[in-house]
Amino acid sequence: MYLKRLEMQGFKTFAVKTVLEFSPEGAKRRGVTSIVGPNGSGKSNVADAIRWVMGEQSMKLLRGKKQEDLIFSGSQNKARSGFAEVSMTLVTEQSESEDLPAEIVLTRRLYRDGKSEFEINRQQAKLADVTMLLAQSGIGQRTYSVIGQGMADAILSASPAERKEFFDEAAGLRPFQLKRHQSVSKLDSSRERLAQADALLREITPRLSSLERQVKRLEQRDALEADRIRLEKSYYGGSWHELSERMGEVKIRLDAAQERETKFLAEARAMQEELAGMEQSVPPSVELDQLRRKIEEIAEERSVLRERQAKLYAQVEIAKAKAQAQRETRTPLSFSKIIEAVEVSQKQLDTLLDHVRHPSPDVAKIKPIVESLHAHHADFSNRLQRPVMEEAPTPTTDPEVEAALKQIVLEMDTLTARTKEIQAKMAEVNRQEDGKRAHLFETQRQLNARRDEARQAERAASDAAVEMARWETRRDAFLAELRTHRPDLEPTLDILAQETGKVDQVDTLLPQLSRTRSQLEWIGNIDPATQKEYTETKERFEFLTTQVEDLRGAIRGLDTVIAELDETIRTKSEQAFHILNSEFSKTFRSLFGGGEAALLQVAPEPTVDEEGNLVPVPADAPVAGIDIQATPPGKRLKSIALLSGGERALTSIALISAIMATNPSPFIVLDEVDAALDEVNTKKYADILEERANATQFIVVTHNRTTMHQASTIYGVTLGEDGSSKVLSVRLEDVGTLQGKG
Ligand code: ATP
Repeated sequence: MYLKRLEMQGFKTFAVKTVLEFSPEGAKRRGVTSIVGPNGSGKSNVADAIRWVMGEQSMKLLRGKKQEDLIFSGSQNKARSGFAEVSMTLVTEQSESEDLPAEIVLTRRLYRDGKSEFEINRQQAKLADVTMLLAQSGIGQRTYSVIGQGMADAILSASPAERKEFFDEAAGLRPFQLKRHQSVSKLDSSRERLAQADALLREITPRLSSLERQVKRLEQRDALEADRIRLEKSYYGGSWHELSERMGEVKIRLDAAQERETKFLAEARAMQEELAGMEQSVPPSVELDQLRRKIEEIAEERSVLRERQAKLYAQVEIAKAKAQAQRETRTPLSFSKIIEAVEVSQKQLDTLLDHVRHPSPDVAKIKPIVESLHAHHADFSNRLQRPVMEEAPTPTTDPEVEAALKQIVLEMDTLTARTKEIQAKMAEVNRQEDGKRAHLFETQRQLNARRDEARQAERAASDAAVEMARWETRRDAFLAELRTHRPDLEPTLDILAQETGKVDQVDTLLPQLSRTRSQLEWIGNIDPATQKEYTETKERFEFLTTQVEDLRGAIRGLDTVIAELDETIRTKSEQAFHILNSEFSKTFRSLFGGGEAALLQVAPEPTVDEEGNLVPVPADAPVAGIDIQATPPGKRLKSIALLSGGERALTSIALISAIMATNPSPFIVLDEVDAALDEVNTKKYADILEERANATQFIVVTHNRTTMHQASTIYGVTLGEDGSSKVLSVRLEDVGTLQGKG
């Protein structure tokens, strides 16, 4: 890498845009560029510009008091600048880090209002980016790449610790130290974040446990709630289904029984009415009595007729007897016989009358009496009508008597016919009575049967009513339970029952339901927001746990990185120190033509803890500083404080040279480092430049011609009347003229 170009505008005396090109002499030689010019022309301002664009923060090193001092302040002839801007172009060679771009343009800008900015390749950047970039490039940012007036001497008079810092940078430890610094910062912030995360974890862990318990209960509750709903549906639906079904069945039975009862009762009533009607109809004995009386009347009539007939017969008999007497004897029926026959009839009639007056359902008893009477009567009547004659009387009888007898016979026949008629009628009446009685008995039987059936139906209805009452009681208890726990279900019970259908052993569900309800009551209500809070807290807990793990991992990683960096720094520092020390001794002896010089590592001082005890220094503690011992030839002095100005200058040049040998920087600005040297030593300084210019690009601000001789390019700087610096390329022979201008 080398410095290719420097542009300044508004920076100190460089009011207008000024460009300096620093091309290397060739592939193998970086070369020397000299900047020459009269005092106060602005040469050192060029070194300041390089220092500033590389991020220098110290106003002391920049030779100002405040930031504004860096902006061109104007002159009588020229207005002040509004801002200062410096751009530095670095070229990276292929052999160098692949991480670096081929060309790096660093820009720094400062406005009068104090606003300042950095750019890397025209992209806004932070100071830290610039620092890291330069460290990666091996360019000493502060102390080593730009060695200002008196700075070389300052290395000698600096403290061992300051010197160590300078050497560390020169030894190329800066990137490692920066990395270590960044790692330590990261470690600190990681530890801080770990502590915070740990504290938060400790804070939320008990809350999470409590929430976990609550959520578990909530889950239990949800499961029980689901059970409860399922059981309620089954129980209420199933029970209602059963109640409706059973009550429906009982209702059908009840209605049927009542209907039967009503029907049978109505039928019984109708039969009873019929029976009453039957009983009210004319009693059968009256008609028979009438008929019997008629027969008696006929018998009387017949008796009268017989009497008359008898009388007539008597007349006839008499006549016959008279005739018989003539021819034979006639034997009519004696009176005693007639009376006997009549008495027999009378007896039978009395018996019959007695039967008829006291009606008996047994008709069979009357029948032989009537038949006997009828036969006796017919016989008797026959005997009366045809008295026993051996032969018919000769019609010697009186025609009148004969006519009268004929008349009587006719009348008797009529009476017989009438008697037969009445007897037939009586038989018919008896037959009718028998039929009526049979119907009455049948009706009576049927009435009893209906009454029995009605009673059975009534019993069935009563049983059904009792059962219905039992179901109603159950239904009321069921509804009371429902209204206590789920009144909302009541309007839709029928739909629910339809959905549920028949449920086996529905009664066993209620105890289960009660158990579930009391379990739910026992668990109590849980805020539904708990679940949300639990999820959030759990997520937070998991996030924090992961973060803690990540941070622990990061801390372990950083610890390792720091330990490795410490080891690298220690090793490199050690190696660099040895090279530096031997180069310093060598160059010192060469510059002084003898003598002794050495660098000494200063161990850290033991510290004192809060209780006032000495804390011993650990064996692997880094070196605290670097001391310089320098004894020019022929002298015994060891302290550098006692060296002359020239000796100090040579010693510091020996140091710078040693640094260049240890870790060649891409470029070094040397601002009047040779000012205090005599002719001979200037030559030695020039030789060192000549030798080191192969590896390092030198920009040398000098008044010394010997030094100038080493340069391949010389820039002359002059200060114009307007107070602004101007730069021009000059040849060595023209330098005198240029200096003269100052
Ligand atoms: P010497 O050879 O004496 O060391 P030099 O060429 O190195 O001189 P510088 O130190 O670079 O000179 O320049 C110093 C000059 O720059 C001073 O005259 C100073 O007044 C001027 N200067 C510094 N800052 C500003 C500024 N902000 N505005 C204008 N001029 C400034």
